[in-house]
Amino acid sequence: MSIFRKKKKVENKWIKCKSCNETFYVEELEQNYWICPKCSNYFRISARNRIKITADEGTFKEFDKKITTKDPLEFSDLKPYKDRLKDAEAKTGNKEAVVNGVCEIDSQPCVLSVMDFAFLGGSMGYATGEKIIRAIEKAIKLKVGLVIISSSGGARMQEGILSLMQMERASAALSMLAKKGLPYISVLTDPTTGGVAASFSMLGDVILAEPNALIGFAGPRVIEQTIGKGLPEGFQRSEFLLEKGFIDVIVERKEIPKYIGKFLRYFSENVKK
Ligand SMILES: [Zn+2]
Repeated sequence: MSIFRKKKKVENKWIKCKSCNETFYVEELEQNYWICPKCSNYFRISARNRIKITADEGTFKEFDKKITTKDPLEFSDLKPYKDRLKDAEAKTGNKEAVVNGVCEIDSQPCVLSVMDFAFLGGSMGYATGEKIIRAIEKAIKLKVGLVIISSSGGARMQEGILSLMQMERASAALSMLAKKGLPYISVLTDPTTGGVAASFSMLGDVILAEPNALIGFAGPRVIEQTIGKGLPEGFQRSEFLLEKGFIDVIVERKEIPKYIGKFLRYFSENVKK
């Protein structure tokens, strides 16, 4: 076992940039916020690494760590859904596609919920939705703002309608947060699509996005086939959506905590609870 671990560690030391094909040390990328030092391509990052670069050091306290899905439809395609869940857990160290915690960001207390694309494409099943709702409820209980960082391929097909229901549940819970006068900052990263984009991700009081992130409901190929026309350049990328008014601001990865802090501070000082 120890030999395996050692080998795995060595293999993982290098990562190749998909955009420019250059190879880098993991440490080098980590220091550069997982942005390619050569071509500035943004690497997709795990929920754990995202928390590390977002929350103030040592402040993140995870909750609802054990919540996981029960495979309600006993679904199987090429592989049983149960096995896919086990693989996803082994790969990410999470039991679900979202990690919840209480923390401070730029010295502002908040509830932070981060999606993990490496866990079944950040897809939203029943337990994912449940965790998002619990994050919202925690923010209400603690009377603090909510921050959700999204990266998702959409609803989780292995849970059918139960997965789709989460769009409505999460949206309803967010309206409770709004009634309490508590802010919700939504951060969209590459990719934020499908049922997640069509529910809580787009309901932020302020919506931030990383540069060049794919954000949309259906993929460009599906839309092109449906409307029988080509799509404009940059369609469904952050810059295009900013221009069309779907998002409020595009923020470089290393500046995101500062922006979140600024907005949380603004709402806590100016909005009557
Ligand atoms: Zn690169």
